[in-house]
Amino acid sequence: MFEPFTDQSLFVSSPSAPAAGGGALPLWNPPPEEALPCADPHLFPLKRRRSLPVRVGAVKIGGGAPVAVQSMCNTYTWDVEATLAQIGRLQEAGCEIVRVAVPDERSAQGLKEIRKRTDAPLVADIHFDHRLALLAAEAGVDCLRINPGNINGEERVSEVVAAAKDRGIPIRVGVNAGSLEKHLLDRFGGATAEAMVESGLRHVAMLERRGFYDTKISLKASDVTRTVQAYRLMARRVEYPLHLGITESGSLQTGSVKSSVGLGILLSEGIGDTIRVSLAADPVEEVRVAYEILKSLRLRQRGVNVVACPSCGRVQIDVDKLTLEVEKELAHITAPITVAVMGCEVNGPGEAREADIGVAGGHKRALIFMKGEKKGLVDYAQIKRHLVEQVEALAAEWSRTGGRRGGNGEGRS
Ligand code: SF4
Repeated sequence: MFEPFTDQSLFVSSPSAPAAGGGALPLWNPPPEEALPCADPHLFPLKRRRSLPVRVGAVKIGGGAPVAVQSMCNTYTWDVEATLAQIGRLQEAGCEIVRVAVPDERSAQGLKEIRKRTDAPLVADIHFDHRLALLAAEAGVDCLRINPGNINGEERVSEVVAAAKDRGIPIRVGVNAGSLEKHLLDRFGGATAEAMVESGLRHVAMLERRGFYDTKISLKASDVTRTVQAYRLMARRVEYPLHLGITESGSLQTGSVKSSVGLGILLSEGIGDTIRVSLAADPVEEVRVAYEILKSLRLRQRGVNVVACPSCGRVQIDVDKLTLEVEKELAHITAPITVAVMGCEVNGPGEAREADIGVAGGHKRALIFMKGEKKGLVDYAQIKRHLVEQVEALAAEWSRTGGRRGGNGEGRS
């Protein structure tokens, strides 16, 4: 199931470090190799790491479920109206799980009201104060993100675990390189990948000692290499589902690139059950970028996939402008449809032919392809309208036939 590691240095500091609970950390013994499905196994035979399933509301994470997309509100949770409005926008964009911060009692009260008014699977993000976790569980959230090692006392951990068990909700152990325990920083000489894994295992062990296994784990650093190393190590240690993310990755552009590289590496190795792209931007952008990452690996197929040439000295139509306009006008489409926008007759017909709908630029006119067949020429001024209308018609057919006809996908978003 797992690719062998080539970087032996990943393991060198671990043996000297005492394990969670004092004993040696067992290596999880993976079951015989098992391929779990990705969207198009013929085109990309990606094998996913097998993980235990957990449920966040109606969304299954791990256990072979499609990689779930999540984001986090950047509103104040006590501002119920603003938070609900943002949750609505996130859901519209395809966000499947929404996390909200609960830093104080006022936010916990807001959460109670939010819970009543949205069906979105909600994760309460809590640090240090176990009472807030109890309030969030009582409010009816679908998951708690809290690190049991940080809530100061075995009794408190037991209370939180009991509340999660009572309500059947999972706990995400969320390790962040920026807030590792001091004794681990000392032992490992900094916030290394091994220190992050050790921290995660210690938190997990606290839950396991109380018979709690409804757990998922994240191990986030703001740089790609350390994050990738940490997840690879953890993937070999436990069977719990993994929530992937590069934390504080940056602005829309830089953060998207870092997240795409980091998450792309891990997902392509079959690691990862849910993802959050952290951006210093509107969280709706996080959802869009997440789907682009998943679409590019054929793990999910939600929405229009636009193939566009970079254009060059042969270009016959304004590819840049047309591509942006088409993407914008088709942002509401959820059907998996590929649209090709190609500048000329060199590579144009080839790409356009492979798409559901394609256009290849010619002199003042463009050649339109549908499902591999030439459909005819349209005037330059009509290209965008024509593409949008045709995609909308295909999307309607896709919905009508339950995803069997219309787009190029497998019928799942
Ligand atoms: S499709 Fe034509 S215009 Fe676009 S990059 Fe290729 S050769 Fe240039």
